[in-house]
Amino acid sequence: MATSKKPEKPRTPGPARAEARCACGAVALEIAAPAQWAWHDHSAASRVAHGAAYATYVGTWKSRLRFLRGEDNLTSYVEPDTGAIRRFCATCGSPVSYQRKRAPNNLNIPRALFTSGVGREPRYHLRIDELREWAYLGEKLKPLKGFPGVVWTGAGKRR
Ligand SMILES: [Zn+2]
Repeated sequence: MATSKKPEKPRTPGPARAEARCACGAVALEIAAPAQWAWHDHSAASRVAHGAAYATYVGTWKSRLRFLRGEDNLTSYVEPDTGAIRRFCATCGSPVSYQRKRAPNNLNIPRALFTSGVGREPRYHLRIDELREWAYLGEKLKPLKGFPGVVWTGAGKRR
């Protein structure tokens, strides 16, 4: 039996990956980590597209993204004003990507879809002037009596 006396060469670690999936799991993708950028988008367009106070995105070059499944299960909406392309899972409606017309090689993936860290913290806020006054901004909260797990700001002044 031939055995090598050479010490085994340490394996070169591959690039770290971060995996994302939609609510129903039909669509899954991975990007190379760390992601290129991460940001909070307070624009009206993203707020409505997500049905949320604002959207937090992780950006990647298209070449660093790979669909694991469900790419053919995406449906698209092209914003008439900007030409931006928003893709959603056709089964559950989760937003999956946001591609700006002026940056066709970049894809922005909702941070909430990732099941792990992405190696990049969202430190930038775009369109902060479009932030709604009802968005939660970390105000002090207190338990709501009689409703375990529910907290509220109290009956202070209306915003
Ligand atoms: Zn889905």
